[in-house]
Amino acid sequence: MNGYAGRWLRVDLGSGKSGVEALDEKRARRYLGGRGMGARILLDEVPVGCDPFSPENRLVFAMGPLAGTFAPGAGRFVVLAKSPATDGFGEAYTGGFVAHELKYAGYDGIVVQGTAAEMVYLAIVNDRVEVRPAARLAGRGTLETEEAIKTELGDRETKIVSIGLAGEKRVRYACVMNDTDRAAGRTGLGAVMGAKNLKAVAIRGTGRATLADPKRFREFALANLAKIRKHPWLGNSPGSAGALGTAGGVEDLSNSGILPTRNWETGAWDYADRISGTAMKNTILIGHRACQACPVGCTRVVRVADGPFGGVRPEYGGPEYETVAAFGSLCENPNLESIALLNQRCNAYGLDTISAGSAIAFAMECVEKGILGEREIGFPLAWGDAPAMVRLLDMIAKREGIGDLLAEGVRRAAAQIGRGASELTVEVKGLEFGMHEARGKKGLALSYATAPRGADHMEGFHDPSLAVPNAWPELGVTEVMDRFTLEGKPRAVRLAEDYTSFINSLPICSFMSLTVGGIRNTEEITGMLAAATGWNDLTFDEEMAMGERAYNLARAFTVRESGGRADDRLPAKLARRLRDGASREQVIADKDFAP
Ligand code: SF4
Repeated sequence: MNGYAGRWLRVDLGSGKSGVEALDEKRARRYLGGRGMGARILLDEVPVGCDPFSPENRLVFAMGPLAGTFAPGAGRFVVLAKSPATDGFGEAYTGGFVAHELKYAGYDGIVVQGTAAEMVYLAIVNDRVEVRPAARLAGRGTLETEEAIKTELGDRETKIVSIGLAGEKRVRYACVMNDTDRAAGRTGLGAVMGAKNLKAVAIRGTGRATLADPKRFREFALANLAKIRKHPWLGNSPGSAGALGTAGGVEDLSNSGILPTRNWETGAWDYADRISGTAMKNTILIGHRACQACPVGCTRVVRVADGPFGGVRPEYGGPEYETVAAFGSLCENPNLESIALLNQRCNAYGLDTISAGSAIAFAMECVEKGILGEREIGFPLAWGDAPAMVRLLDMIAKREGIGDLLAEGVRRAAAQIGRGASELTVEVKGLEFGMHEARGKKGLALSYATAPRGADHMEGFHDPSLAVPNAWPELGVTEVMDRFTLEGKPRAVRLAEDYTSFINSLPICSFMSLTVGGIRNTEEITGMLAAATGWNDLTFDEEMAMGERAYNLARAFTVRESGGRADDRLPAKLARRLRDGASREQVIADKDFAP
C-alpha cells in the first residue's frame, strides 16, 4: 500500500510475544494514522473503566502515511493511552527521528499491551523484534538509557523512545522522551510506560517509504517548502522560530497581557525580557536543531557550564516557550540558567515541563496563602526561588516528601490538601493549562473546556490569529474577531479543531500546517497526501471529515471514561479578574458558554 508500511506491530509484554497485523487501505483512508488510528484502537481495545496502570491499558505509538518522506514536518508521531492524569483520552505529540525510523523498519505503528514482570526494553530491527531485559537501566536518565542501549545493540543509528525515573515512579505527568531532547509531554503517558515496566523502545530500520507518485509528491513538497520559507514566523527572519525558538514571542505575550504569571494571577511581567528567546540567544544558546524533514529547526541547544545552575549539557536541547513560561513567569523566576537546568532535569527524569512548572507554581501560591507551610514543604518556597524550585522538582520525580503529593497533578493534590487549595488550580479534567492565558483568548477557553485531553493548547486556534481579515478562508472564517469576545467563535473553534485533528492524524508538526501568518498550504498538504497514497480523488472536505472523525473518537473515549460534559469546566480562577497588563480585568467562566 503506497504511503504506508501496511503493517502494525503488536507486542504483549505479559507473554513476551509479538506479531504483525496488516493494515488495509479502507481502514487507512478512514482513520489515516496518528490520532485517528490511535483513538480507534483505544476505543476498541481498552476496557471500560480500565485502570490506566493496569496491563489492559494500551500504549500506542502511531505514525502515518507521510512518515519516512521529506514532507516538511513529517518527523512526527503520537503516543496514546488512557491517561493517568485525566482518566480520559491520553495523547502526546513529539518530533525527532523516530517516526521515519519506524517506517523504515516496516511499521505504521506499535500497540503495546500487558505488563512485563521485570523492567524490559523493546528492540526492533526491521522484522526482528525482541523483548530484552533492562533491570540495570532502572532509575537511569533518558540520555544514559539511550547511550546504554545503543552500546548494547552496537548501532549508533538506532532511534530510541524512553522514560526516566518519573515514568518508573508513575508521576501522573511523566512524559515519553525520544532522541534525548524531544518529549511526548502531556497526559502522563510516561507513567503508563513505567507501569508496563517498559523502559525504552529501540528502533532501527533499513527500508524506505513508498510513494504512489514520487514526481508529483516532490512537486507538492517543494511548493510547500517554498511557502514555509516565505512564512513570517517560520522563514529566515531575525525573529523567526529558527532564530529565536518558540520563546521568541515572550515579550509580545507580556505586552498583550497573556503571559501566564504568578500562577495565573496576571498576564504581564516586568522580567519577560530576561527569559525571552532573545535573552536566550544572547546568553546560553549555542545552536539549534531540527526534527527530521524540518526546514525550521525551532529546537534550542543551550549550555550552562558552571555556577549555581551549571552542568546543563547541549544533548538535552534547551527550553522552548512552554518550559520558559512554566518555570519562568508562572513561578516569577527570571533566572534563565535555572530554567535551562530545570528543563534538563525534566528531560532526564521524563517529566512534562508544563505540568511540573504548574505544580511548583501551585505550591508557591499555597505557601503564599498559608495553605501549605515550611513544615509540609520542608524548606521555604517563595516566588522566584530558583534553587528551591530545582529541589522541589527532584522531590516530584522521586516522589519524596511533598513531591509525592505534587506528583499527582494539581487537581488531585489540591483535593488532598483541602483548605481551599482547589481555588488555586488551573486545569481542565486534571490536565494543567498549556502556557496560554484563556482570559485574553476567549475562543481558546472554549477549546480548553471541551478538548478530549483536557486543557489542550494544541487543539483549536489561538484568538490573535483571527484578529486579521480572511484568517481561515478554506474554513469560511473570514471576519475579523476580537480576542476578548466569544462572538462567532464556537463555529470557528469546531472547524479549527477538525482541521487540527486531521493534521494530527497525518501527523505532521502543527507549525507546518501554517494555520497562522497569512500563508496557507492546504493545497500542498492535500497534494502530498494524494501523491504519497495514490488517493487522487482526495479533497479538502474529506480531510475535514477525517479530522472530525478522529476528534469525535478521541472525545468519545473521554466521555466514556471520565466525567463527560459535566467535566467540561473551566477552573474557578479564570472567573477572577486578571490583575495587570493589556488584558487586565478580563474574566471567563462556564456561564459565558451558555447560548
Ligand atoms: S518546527 Fe520545531 S517542532 Fe516542528 S518539526 Fe521543526 S524543529 Fe520539530
